[in-house]
Amino acid sequence: MSNTPYHAGRHFLQIPGPTPVPSRIEQAMIRPIMDHRSAEFAEFSSRLLQSLKGVFKTENPVIMFPASGTGAWEAALTNTLSPGDKIVMFETGQFSMLWQVMAKRLGLDVDYIESDWRIGVDAQAIARRIEADKAHEIKAVAVVHNETATGCCSPVDEVRKALDASGHPALLMVDTISSLGCVDYRHDEWGVDVTVCGSQKGLMLPPGLSFTAVSDKALEASKSAKLPRGFFSWEDMLGPNANGFYPYTPAITLMYGLEEAIKMLNEEGLENVFARHAKLARGTRAAVAAWGLENQCSDARYYSNAVTSIRMPEGHSADRFRKIVLENFNMSLGAGLTKVADKVFRIGHLGDTNELTIIGALGGVEMGLELAGVPHNKGGVQAAMAEFAKSIGVEPAKAA
Ligand SMILES: *Cc1c(COP(=O)(O)O)cnc(C)c1O
Repeated sequence: MSNTPYHAGRHFLQIPGPTPVPSRIEQAMIRPIMDHRSAEFAEFSSRLLQSLKGVFKTENPVIMFPASGTGAWEAALTNTLSPGDKIVMFETGQFSMLWQVMAKRLGLDVDYIESDWRIGVDAQAIARRIEADKAHEIKAVAVVHNETATGCCSPVDEVRKALDASGHPALLMVDTISSLGCVDYRHDEWGVDVTVCGSQKGLMLPPGLSFTAVSDKALEASKSAKLPRGFFSWEDMLGPNANGFYPYTPAITLMYGLEEAIKMLNEEGLENVFARHAKLARGTRAAVAAWGLENQCSDARYYSNAVTSIRMPEGHSADRFRKIVLENFNMSLGAGLTKVADKVFRIGHLGDTNELTIIGALGGVEMGLELAGVPHNKGGVQAAMAEFAKSIGVEPAKAA
């Protein structure tokens, strides 16, 4: 592949997606391709589409396109809205930024509420827009649940309450690309109209599948929405899906993987999966605090359980630090994106991850800080270990 010599042990892929694919899923994908028009396939696919609903906590269809998550962004917008429609979006970071750029390109009138990339969605700011819109010109509100660039997670239920409180009919769309399968998420209960997701983060799969979970209201809107849609048409998909089929060749191999991923999430239990992510995130934040470094997320109520974004002390390069970690310890850390390029690095703690993976990753970070000459205090790994011990009810031993 490259000229770099073999590096013993596995690569630590600690970026917030794509995440490491567990071998159970790899094995599940090594199966002969089926005839996608056969009865056997239809049976497999119908079961899969049914089990997928549980992950989104919905009774409604989840529509799957062979695309990265970005495809699902496009499907959400083009299936429900018309040219010139007003949409409110909130600036949480890189991913909200890219979604609103797409919305503008598609000809929507975007009201992008600016923020500083250090908090999640301010539901009050959205509530003010909604309340002022007596004529109901706003057709949709779209937010990113977990902003992967900054490690800020947003209160989707509060955005729902803001819409309900003013009886506003706007559709609610939520990007859960880096939160589904990591953080509690309830499509039906929170009254979300379109939930957008991708395969390569909390779902532990390779990249290549995108999902939109839809409400009845979103499906109703799709009947009169005028934005052009070709490949990403819900209607084209839902017809054949009802019998387990697809309008074109589905990503069969990834679907084998998805079946296994859902099985694994259900074996562990979704609530346990969320608790594990919360624990790993607490351990990571304990290390960051012990190092004396600053979390990019400036308000604890928005802390993400999937990724932690860490600010480099002034005058130090996050990219140089990441390079040193990669070269010495064979670990990939997430880069700072655009506005925070070279200013932050990110530790992904999502997907197929446990305490020992995180202790290893934090050890690599702590050694890297030393090698890069970044001012910090020792004891980050120790702090994470203490946090993990606490969560299984072990009190630290008293020094003799
Ligand atoms: C990764 C990510 C995306 C982009 O998904 P792709 O699969 O790269 O197209 C969008 N939103 C969020 C929150 C993400 O984490």
